[in-house]
Amino acid sequence: MTISHHPPEDLLADFAAGKLEEAHQLVVGVHVAGCPRCTRFVQAIEQLAGAALEDVAPVPIATDAFDRVMSRIHEAPKEAVAPALASDTDDDVPPALRKYRIGKRRRVAPGLSLRPIELSGQGQARAFLLRSAPGSRMLEHTHTGTELTLVLEGSFSHEGGHFGPGDFDYGDDEVEHRPIVGNEGPCLCLVAMTGDLRMNGFLGRLIGPFVRL
Ligand SMILES: [Zn+2]
Repeated sequence: MTISHHPPEDLLADFAAGKLEEAHQLVVGVHVAGCPRCTRFVQAIEQLAGAALEDVAPVPIATDAFDRVMSRIHEAPKEAVAPALASDTDDDVPPALRKYRIGKRRRVAPGLSLRPIELSGQGQARAFLLRSAPGSRMLEHTHTGTELTLVLEGSFSHEGGHFGPGDFDYGDDEVEHRPIVGNEGPCLCLVAMTGDLRMNGFLGRLIGPFVRL
């Protein structure tokens, strides 16, 4: 897998610091896990942050701090290990997403379907798996918010280049694009999106109200 499109560095820095909202943390995290270059970048930031922490004068901690931490750990709700509706037979769900509950597939337009990913509810962005048919041409659209897209299978192209497995695409409200899905097979993407899509052009305005992501 050759990755040629990576998240912008400020996004990676915020990811390393855990500052992104959940949907963005998820999409950037799945990219980083499969991308040696971004893994190195994130590790370098973490090391810098660690070094900065060592420079900070130690603060005396309360003598019962350890006990308090341990009791909080015991009180904390057990992490949900039960999986998700997704099973191994679920061809849509990459291993990195198996711990999430993933909703049923919903058709949003001809050749386009999505499965919502259930997050904890924090943050504005939604996350979903988006599947588009090979060779389909999405309508030209703009965003009212940001859209982070990670290609899992297949490919698409738009003015910004060609995006294959592992590639990361960042769109905001300045971007107008009209992705075309490659012919080699369906394109499966992991997407985090805030705001809405705005369809452009006559046809877009006509069907826009029916396309709900
Ligand atoms: Zn990368």
